[in-house]
Amino acid sequence: MAIPVQATPRTVTLTIDGREVTVAEGSTIWAAAKAASIDIPVLCHDERFDPVGVCRMCVVDVGAPAFAASCVRACEEGMEVKTATPEVERSRAVLTQLLLADQPERERDPKQTTTGDNELLALADRYGVAREDGLPVGAGRGTDSSNPVIAVDHDSCILCDRCVRACDDIQGNDVIGRSGKGYSTRIAFDLNDPMGQSSCVTCGECVSACPTGALTNKPIRNIPIRPRSELDQVNTVCPYCGVGCALTYHVDRERGAIAFAEGRDQPGSKGRLCVKGRYGWDYAASPQRLTVPLIRREESYPKGALSTDVRGDMGDGGYKDDLEERAERRQLSAGRNPGGARNGQRQGNGESRGKGKGGKGRGRKPGGLVDYDEVLPHFREATWEEALDLVARRLTEIYTEGGPGAIAGFGSAKCSNEEAYLFQKLIRTGFHTNNVDHCTRLCHASSVAALFEGIGSGAVSTTYGDVINADVAIVTGTNTPANHPVASSFFKQARRNGTTIIYIDPRADKMADHADIFCQLKPGTDVAFYNGVMHEVIRLGLVDRDFIGQRTTNFGALAQTVKDYPPERAEQITGVPADVIRRVARAWGEAGAGIIFWGMGISQHTTGTDNARCLIALCAITGNVGRPGSGLHPLRGQNNVQGASDMGLIPMFYPDYKKADDPAVRARFEQAWGTTDLDPKRGLTVTEIIGSVLKGGVRGMYMLGENPFLSDPNINKVRKALAALDFLVVQDIFLTETAEFADVILPASSYLEKDGTYTNTDRRVQLGRKVLDPPGGARVDWEVVQDIANRIGLGWSYTSARDIFEEIVSVMPSYTNLNYDNLGLTGKLYPNPDPEHSDGIVVMFGEKFNTDDGLAHLVPAEWLPAKELPNEQYPFVLNTGRLLEHWHTGSMTRRSYALDAIAPLAEAYLNPADAAELGIADGEMARVSSRRGTIVLAVRVSHREQRGNCFIPFHFREAAANLLTTDEIDPIGKIPEFKFCAVRIEAAAGVQA
Ligand code: SF4
Ligand code: SF4
Repeated sequence: MAIPVQATPRTVTLTIDGREVTVAEGSTIWAAAKAASIDIPVLCHDERFDPVGVCRMCVVDVGAPAFAASCVRACEEGMEVKTATPEVERSRAVLTQLLLADQPERERDPKQTTTGDNELLALADRYGVAREDGLPVGAGRGTDSSNPVIAVDHDSCILCDRCVRACDDIQGNDVIGRSGKGYSTRIAFDLNDPMGQSSCVTCGECVSACPTGALTNKPIRNIPIRPRSELDQVNTVCPYCGVGCALTYHVDRERGAIAFAEGRDQPGSKGRLCVKGRYGWDYAASPQRLTVPLIRREESYPKGALSTDVRGDMGDGGYKDDLEERAERRQLSAGRNPGGARNGQRQGNGESRGKGKGGKGRGRKPGGLVDYDEVLPHFREATWEEALDLVARRLTEIYTEGGPGAIAGFGSAKCSNEEAYLFQKLIRTGFHTNNVDHCTRLCHASSVAALFEGIGSGAVSTTYGDVINADVAIVTGTNTPANHPVASSFFKQARRNGTTIIYIDPRADKMADHADIFCQLKPGTDVAFYNGVMHEVIRLGLVDRDFIGQRTTNFGALAQTVKDYPPERAEQITGVPADVIRRVARAWGEAGAGIIFWGMGISQHTTGTDNARCLIALCAITGNVGRPGSGLHPLRGQNNVQGASDMGLIPMFYPDYKKADDPAVRARFEQAWGTTDLDPKRGLTVTEIIGSVLKGGVRGMYMLGENPFLSDPNINKVRKALAALDFLVVQDIFLTETAEFADVILPASSYLEKDGTYTNTDRRVQLGRKVLDPPGGARVDWEVVQDIANRIGLGWSYTSARDIFEEIVSVMPSYTNLNYDNLGLTGKLYPNPDPEHSDGIVVMFGEKFNTDDGLAHLVPAEWLPAKELPNEQYPFVLNTGRLLEHWHTGSMTRRSYALDAIAPLAEAYLNPADAAELGIADGEMARVSSRRGTIVLAVRVSHREQRGNCFIPFHFREAAANLLTTDEIDPIGKIPEFKFCAVRIEAAAGVQA
């Protein structure tokens, strides 16, 4: 019987091992055999890569004088293929024996075995061949252990190039090549550098591709890496960024620990991971996990910060810290390349991170973490009953005295949908206030405001994978390889496939290396740049007149505004040559399909909403929304920032973005939630709540997983606000900087310890599954929220995350048709009219937008300078952001062995000419000051910065960038200006690096 593999458009029919098989023309024999469930062994082949046919393991008999390599040989009509004749099998056995000849002994180093699935050794078992005795062990090509989590054994390498293609073709990192000649040939990282000192970003794709154990994962926290068959597999999702890569944790149940992680196929990640997903999970096993509820001791009132760093009383703005210690760490990190590991860092595997449990003696702030020994004595252990009773009593008392305006809640974009939903429901129904927000206020609030105004929806109009269908992609204000690494691999692949990438950013970070056109504009000039581009698009007549006429409003006003931004004027403001602006306009305007991706370089400005308005207008006037390969995609930061916002964890919207100040909406939610007195007005945002605390408005707060001390702008102000609260309960997995101000600390469960759903930047709702038990007395978060709700009389009776999700779907039309059973292993996009048969809707707005009139509302914007411009005293512009290896306030990533080992300390990135003028060499310490404070940190001299700019990541408490940032906000999105403030930089005398 013919097996229909693919019947269109043209097919060939052949016979494989006597079975008739019909496949698409051009299919390889190997692919055809696989489709017919016929196994042909391979070594150099992996179906994710273009085949090369070098190892000859996959040879088959096609009736020709020589065997054919099935991975490259195309099927032909009438071909008769025999995949396993005695001669073919003998050829494979001989080949296996030859490859074994110069392999190391099978268990030369049991601590550095591969994932237990060495394909070459499996073939040796299959063919019953062994390495001959007496042969020299290995070819003497050497080993390389310079990467903290990947071991290289060149002697095990068979030069199949799978790692080369994984690194180049899949991740687009282009690190691995070959060096040497003849028998000494070996894979090489960059110019034959040690892996840990090369430009390798430790994504581990090469390890997952290696069939022989030449590239292997090192054990983390001494958990041995055993074969998959000896470990449990849990399919879940990465807990870090909004890409939401699907992954599988391989769990050692005897040790109650994860042994290793690997990517899993899903349309938005295709089995790929970055360093955080693949190696950054061991934070959950940190000995610094909170395991018991804690209550502040009487003698530790009046409240305030408890540790030296957080009190800020050491001079230098409070962040002087132990400079010698940091200088020492900086010396250890010498020899690294940007993005590469630091050779010599943290030898060992993370086990030295503290000791004991229960708090005391858990080690002094490894990697600049909260000093538990300094802080914990201010708290006493309590039972859950006592702690929860106290929380409920104090919040109720404050509410009774001060009314709804006295209470506020910060949730987190790390929470699951179920946790976010219950948290906002607790604040709204228990305290009758809409004062509930989370860190979306700090990332894309302005984008969401502009999108709602422009197209009536805050979610992306298409997926990042749709970039493959775009002729042109504008990637702007996003360091995608660091912040959304796997999404960036889709961009790089699209470019290889012909998509033109236009990259627009003040920093020449790695995305610039993969751009066809790179525009390094001056910070804070985005509106002028896009107005210049739109001016030229309109002048050249490259607009889509039909689309403008039928699907937009207000084009006339937009055209009038951008008329004043000819490219020459835009050049004066942005610093981008007028000719380049014209080139961008022509490329965009002439594209059949264009798509725009943006990040916080667009949103985190006082003009963030205007910046996003320009991007919406640029798409709309060229008809680039609603078709494959076109659209608007704000790359959402945290793993569940999309979902937390969808759930109504924001002060102006109930779940599903229903307006909080709309009486009809309020009535609907009062009915759904069985209450009668929801707050009739919008609540306060994150930054407004901090301001309200200082004015005596908000007096009691519940923080679930949020760490505003480090994440919010102007830390001095945040410090005052946190200390001024009458009552603060913090629910978290670690003792964060914010928890130092708490009255009660509740030990929470990490992502790995609970079930829940998470919605990624593409609108993909996925199931996160429990991998491990929470440590000690730590509890699942939704249960804790429910216990507080019930103590204030709400009478909830949810029994599981599934139970909560069912209620979510019942009140959120966007999530209609989704349930725990149909989300499966890959999740589903919302909206999804037919989840049993479809992944969900990729391209939105094909017919109309979500606005009341169904049209896109074009909103013109005039360029406005940033609020705090450089002057003689503060001549540099500070830009803050993330590193690839770290996440937000570092509470998870700085407790991950791999991530801390690769990026152990804060650095200020400076242009070489600026550094030279300041007399500061690479690695030397500098003092960076703004009008609000000073931090001291090492300088990294980087050609990726433009002159006059300084980039500082905000993860590091010992050099907290947000001590410097301004709390000026965008008037509409209420997002702070994290990307622009004026600073002074000086050599930090007396500190030797
Ligand atoms: S870990 Fe990733 S970046 Fe590094 S060499 Fe391997 S594939 Fe390339
Ligand atoms: S790209 Fe994002 S979701 Fe994927 S592995 Fe990295 S951090 Fe995790």
